[in-house]
Parts: sequence; C-alpha cells; structure tokens
Amino acid sequence: MSPPVQPVVSDEKLPGSADVVVIGGGMAGSAAAYALAKKGLSVALLEKGRIGGEQTSRNWGWCRQQHRDLRELPLAMKSLEIWGEFGRELAVETGFRRTGLIYVTTRPADLAQWEAWTQRARDHQMHSRVLSGAEAKALTPGSTADWIGGVHSPTDGRAEPSLAGPAIAEGARRLGVTIHQDCAARGLVTEAGKVSGVVTEKGTIRTQAVLCAGGAWSSLFCRRHGVRLPQASVRSTSFATKAAPAVTEGGLSMPDVTIRRRLDGGYTVGLGGRGRVELSPQGLLYARQFWPTFKKRRWGLTFAIGRSFFEGPEAFSRWSLDGISPFERQRTLDPAADPALVRLGLTRLGEHYPALAGLQVAQAWGGLIDSTPDAIPVISAVDSLPGLYLSTGFSGHGFGIGPAAGRLAADLIAGDPPIVDPHPFRYSRMVDGTDLGEPGMM
Ligand SMILES: Cc1cc2nc3c(=O)[nH]c(=O)nc-3n(C[C@H](O)[C@H](O)[C@H](O)COP(=O)(O)OP(=O)(O)OC[C@H]3O[C@@H](n4cnc5c(N)ncnc54)[C@H](O)[C@@H]3O)c2cc1C
Repeated sequence: MSPPVQPVVSDEKLPGSADVVVIGGGMAGSAAAYALAKKGLSVALLEKGRIGGEQTSRNWGWCRQQHRDLRELPLAMKSLEIWGEFGRELAVETGFRRTGLIYVTTRPADLAQWEAWTQRARDHQMHSRVLSGAEAKALTPGSTADWIGGVHSPTDGRAEPSLAGPAIAEGARRLGVTIHQDCAARGLVTEAGKVSGVVTEKGTIRTQAVLCAGGAWSSLFCRRHGVRLPQASVRSTSFATKAAPAVTEGGLSMPDVTIRRRLDGGYTVGLGGRGRVELSPQGLLYARQFWPTFKKRRWGLTFAIGRSFFEGPEAFSRWSLDGISPFERQRTLDPAADPALVRLGLTRLGEHYPALAGLQVAQAWGGLIDSTPDAIPVISAVDSLPGLYLSTGFSGHGFGIGPAAGRLAADLIAGDPPIVDPHPFRYSRMVDGTDLGEPGMM
C-alpha cells in the first residue's frame, strides 16, 4: 500500500517546446527542475504517475552526510545547506529539521568501520563525534542494550518524504516549470544523432536537452536508445508507527533497526541492509558488474523469482513510440511490505527500548531502491547521445542528497560551474571499463 504523498497540481497543456524536459517527478527530477528554473530556463517535468509517488515518498527521511561514500560526501554536505535554504525559498513545510543523527551498536566491527570513516571524513571538514559506550548510552536515555559505542553527526537532519518532493515540485511550478502527471515519456526523438524531442503519451515536446531522472526505470528508458546503464533494485520494507514516546528527535540507528521521528509524533522504522532481490532479465544482463556488491551485502538479502521477470522496470520490453509503453502499464511501483520484516523491526525496537515495545503500526509499505554497481549515482551527460543527461542510480541516498544532485544536474545542463566536482558521477565510468570496485558504506 502506497504511503501518503502531498498532491501536486498538474498543468493541462503540454508545451510544444522547452529548454529542458525532465523525465521523472521524484526527488532527482523535481530538484533539478527547480534548479533549472532558477537559472531562467523553461522546463517541462514529466511524471508517469504522481509527483513523489515512488522512492521519494517511501524512504526513511534521513538527510545525512554521516557514512556517505567519500566520493559522494561533498554532494551530501552541499545538500544539507540547500535543505536549509529550501525552508526560506519554498515557504512550504518539507519537514526538514537539523536534528542530528545517532548510530549506536553492540558490534565491534561496526564501531571500527565508523571510526575509520569519521577519521577520513575530516579531510572534507565533516566533523562527526565518535561515542564511547557511556556517551552512546547518555545520548539514548531509556535504551537497555549495552552499546559499546556509536557516532553522532549533529549537522545531519531529517525531512518528511510525504511532503518534501511535492514541496520542491510546487516550488518549481511557481518559477514557471510545467508539471505533467499521468504523463509517461515513451522515448526520445533524435536528429543527426542528437536529442531533438521527447514523445510522451500526450504528445511530443521539442527540446535539445532531456534529463532522465526515472529512478528504477531509468535503465529501461535508456536501453531503448542503446544507452547501457547498469542498474539493479532491492525491495525493502518500512513502516510508520502511531504516536510514540519521543526517544529521539532525529534519526537513530541501532543493530537491525532504525527509527526517524516523524512530524506526526510517530516513527518511520527501517530495517537496515535487509531486502529482497528478484531475479530479472535486467539483473542477468548486469550480473557481472553487481557481483561484488551482492557478495558484500548478501547477508541481509533474500533472492526470488517474481513478477519482475515479466513486467516492470527490469523486464525486457519492446514498445513503439505510438503505442502504450511499460511506463504507462505501471503508473506507480508499489511493492508489498514484507510482514516478517515488520515483525522483526517491532521486536528489535522493544528489545533495545522498552518504552517502544508494543508500538502500533500505522502503515507498512515496500519500496524499490535502485542502485548502481558502485552505489553512487550517475549525474552526467551521455556522450554517445548529445542532449541526453542522467540523474539516477541514487542507491538509497537520493532523498538526502537530492537537492544538491538537482543543482549539479542543472549546472551541467546549463554549462555553469558545477556545485561539486562532477567526475565521480560521470556516466562514462559505467561503460569504459573503469574498475568500479566495491561500494562504500550505505
Ligand atoms: C525504503 C527506502 C528507504 C530509503 N531511505 C532513504 C533515506 O533515509 N535517505 C535518503 O537519502 N534516501 C533514502 N532512500 C533512497 C531515496 O528515496 C531515493 O534515492 C530517491 O528518492 C530517488 O529519487 P529519484 O527521483 O531518483 O527516484 P524516484 O523517487 O523513484 O522517482 C522516479 C520517478 O520517475 C518516474 N518515471 C520513471 N520513468 C518515467 C517515464 N518514462 N516517464 C515519466 N515518469 C517516469 C517514476 O514514476 C518516479 O516517480 C530510501 C529508499 C527507500 C525505497
């Protein structure tokens, strides 16, 4: 069942042309549309379902720099600044609060990894505090587990996934972006090897710049145009509790379970690292690139054959631009929550925090997390198809880093100095034989 998401008004009329067409109304697409409009460009934002309807409203709501892959850290740090600016610029509630995030553990291996990361992150002027067992205990009053230590990142924050994506899209609309929901992009029109338009189910828009920010669907969209984009998805489960005692105002990560305080006084609960991978044709196509990631993460993953072998973003599909496309057949990806994981989350919460034992579940949902092999996004032009840009593959980080990712995509499209070094996010690393290595921390 889909979690709630704030409705956004659609524009009736599809423009005949636009400086930039953005495909996908999640965090990546909405933030890019907003940043492009601030630069004075005309933008049409296409969404096959509802703005924010997929990952952007299904995530935990952590806006964090802590434990980000160091290649991604500058983007995460800029993003926290932009989250703060949104409060003034959008004048609408995104739920963003700089409440800090706390990680605590009973496992020596976690602590060693966190200490090493914190040390290296200092080079980027990121100052988290490693906690002793006593300090971890003092920051989590009421918890009964014997924490051996933890880490505290006071400059991190949280936001409300049901509100933030729509708030940014509405902000973009106020700057002149036209928003088209229930409007799938079926494919690109090209002339002389360059992008010259986008065919949608409601007509064609002429443009010389297209940003594909289609989340889990990006690889399928690119495949139609001969652009190889290794992407894989993990189904994860989260749930919201009814109002509960305030043990933290921000996000708290404990072994097996994480909580994030919600504006409504409950928690969004997540099960770190656990999820289901469904075998699919796309998965087989890119299996070699993803092998190191799966080896590292397989402890928490289950593997299955399901419907995604035959339908959805990872199936092999062919479609013509004047017929119904796979994007229209599934307006919103809405995977079911796994009840066993909901039970596990409730059990662990009660074990760690007696005050949180017996919490009532308000709603549980599933979400498909799209990843790249090195678990950092692609935010880049595609050299083999001039006019096509990508902002996708956020690998479970795109809500928090979305605002700066949107700005970076807009900088690249406009030819402006980029907000951060775009090199780590270049598309070419996916196809030029670069050793992508193992992903960093998630
Ligand atoms: C359970 C869960 C927990 C997470 N927790 C966090 C967290 O705490 N912090 C964090 O930073 N990140 C988190 N993430 C990741 C984060 O939610 C995503 O990285 C981010 O939302 C990705 O944004 P996106 O715009 O790329 O994709 P999406 O939000 O999935 O948006 C893509 C949109 O494109 C549309 N689309 C696709 N193809 C087409 C087409 N052809 N035409 C028109 N529209 C199209 C889709 O309908 C969709 O709405 C989590 C994700 C999940 C699932």
